[in-house]
Amino acid sequence: MRYAETGFNLEIDLARGSIERVATDPRLTELHLGGLGTNARTLWDRVSPETDPFSPDIPLIFGAGLLGGTPAPGANRTIITAYSPQTLLMGYSLMGGFLAPELKHAGYDKVILRGKSPNLVYLWIHNDKVEIRDASHLKGKGAVETQELIRQELKEANAQVAAIGLAGENRVYTASIEQGRSSASRLGIGAVMGDKGVKAIAVRGTKDVHLARPAEFYELCNDVLKYIKFRNENPVPNVMTILQGLGSPQEMLHVDEKWHTENFMWGNSRVRRKDFWNKEIEEKWKSVQLNVRKRLISCYNCPMKCGAIISVPGISTYMMKCFSKLTYTMAAFVEDLDFGFRIAQRATEYGVDGFSTPQMMAFAFELKDAGILTDADFEGCPSDNEGKFYWLLDRIVRREGIGDVLADGTYWAAQKIGKGAEAYAHNNIKKHEQLPLKLGMLNPVYFLMYSTGEKINITQIEGQFPQAPFATMAEREEFVRDWIQVPDEKFKQIVLDWEPRGERSNPYYPTVDMSVDIVDWQEKMHYIDDTLGVCAGLSSFPLKPPYHIHNYPRFVSAATGIDMDEAGLTQVYNRSRNLIRAINVRRGLRRADEKPPEDHWKKRFPELEAKLLDAYYKFRGWNNEGIPTKETLHELGMDDVAKDLEQRGIIKNGQGEEENQNHQDRP
Ligand code: SF4
Repeated sequence: MRYAETGFNLEIDLARGSIERVATDPRLTELHLGGLGTNARTLWDRVSPETDPFSPDIPLIFGAGLLGGTPAPGANRTIITAYSPQTLLMGYSLMGGFLAPELKHAGYDKVILRGKSPNLVYLWIHNDKVEIRDASHLKGKGAVETQELIRQELKEANAQVAAIGLAGENRVYTASIEQGRSSASRLGIGAVMGDKGVKAIAVRGTKDVHLARPAEFYELCNDVLKYIKFRNENPVPNVMTILQGLGSPQEMLHVDEKWHTENFMWGNSRVRRKDFWNKEIEEKWKSVQLNVRKRLISCYNCPMKCGAIISVPGISTYMMKCFSKLTYTMAAFVEDLDFGFRIAQRATEYGVDGFSTPQMMAFAFELKDAGILTDADFEGCPSDNEGKFYWLLDRIVRREGIGDVLADGTYWAAQKIGKGAEAYAHNNIKKHEQLPLKLGMLNPVYFLMYSTGEKINITQIEGQFPQAPFATMAEREEFVRDWIQVPDEKFKQIVLDWEPRGERSNPYYPTVDMSVDIVDWQEKMHYIDDTLGVCAGLSSFPLKPPYHIHNYPRFVSAATGIDMDEAGLTQVYNRSRNLIRAINVRRGLRRADEKPPEDHWKKRFPELEAKLLDAYYKFRGWNNEGIPTKETLHELGMDDVAKDLEQRGIIKNGQGEEENQNHQDRP
């Protein structure tokens, strides 16, 4: 009997139309547990690094986390992986909602899609019955609309459906996969789904997910629920409102946008509007938000309510979450929040990433103002800010005219446009648009997480360690008093000693070594979440969450029967961290790619930044180019990975290659 996991994957060859239920190897569970780790292993084992992201050989994997479908609160993430068309590296994007638990109850840990379907299809997974169904009638339909049409067609109101919109069908590099209460938006994973000719996946499952020690597991779940209640009743004091609670910052709940609108950049991530927020705007925006927000909603088995049902008169209802209520508004320099809610509805139906897409549009209009793009590129485009954005969004998702160039994201669009356009694609890491945030002073922890992260996701820069020092000693002492989540007491001392100004302040404090330790802790929690399928909003993302390194091993042990402790879980994390790094170095990732945008901080410290990267690589057991050494891979039981890198000449004499060449556009 397999516990927590089902022990079966669905392997679907879209070209042949074949469907197989395949038993998985329990040894892989011991090595990687599930979710992200086993997705990565499949990608490593099956795909050569030279493969194009749109090759039929690329497996598009929908993986449930190890705890998905169990009673663990918030264990609802679907981890979707392939190669990203935008970064050319491993792309993984996560969605909450209900899909992964439904998949587990249908009897599968993963759905692995291979090949390409000659016609547009959707998958219908209903326990043991799995069908590839014609979706030609859904071509061009919205991602939200499609979900409802499929439920009606199947006469199955409880089916969970993940679908792409027009953007995915047209392989727009920022295409998302939408699913009722969540979406997988980053890294163009929706474009890969569209390329495979799959419009949607619908799942209904009614089987049990077995637990090794159910009574113990339920007790742990109840402890987590109690802690969530406690945290909701006791917000973290002395930090910004959005950092006080759990969940993904509950943008739908809060109406105070002073911090975002005055600190995040407007337009193409360049213009800071320090005095934007005032009483009049506050009242106006509050009234708009409360009018369109019909109710707050949760993902599967979670007491938090991070999303909201949005209903703007005259257009269909949709779900919104997080910061996307502001991204279009700010990119377009529109001061009416109503615009943000209206255009986000269209963008959700098209199925695009709400972070990158507005930046692509702002980038285009900046190029027009600079004379690099011309009136001919924008023929028929209205002149008002709102109209301009709607016009361009329509063209991007259809890949029409200039929209076809922009649909590849700012990095690739700038390469195609030339004439100095590259300087305007200024807000990228690893060829992907980043947060439109520009700060004053470099924060060493944030620098490392931002530079070296493989997830290219905004939440990966935040973690259980505070992002800024507390002003007074009394505040610091209050913060560390009930900080049960720390893996080591030394982190408390760092918080106590960290000052807003002076010797013990950013960028030289936390020190290089302390920064590396903090990053290791934060990354560890992100990797464990993505392996277990638990929402980062209850673990790696907020301060003082209910899940942490001390209780996670007990969850794994009680769920699976595997004897897991903190050291064991850390080893699983290190293994997956290094495997994903190996996948990416095999795809050409090197040190030169690991740098935040030049203008991300007003003051940069090149020497310190180099020291931070050196120390981080050393700590990881990587060489100076960020390549895992043979010894590191051996210690993690991945000699096969080391051998492959050696055969490709990436590891020489046990070390990764040392030359600092430009690998930007490999392979
Ligand atoms: S914390 Fe929010 S985003 Fe996370 S599972 Fe719960 S409702 Fe969903």
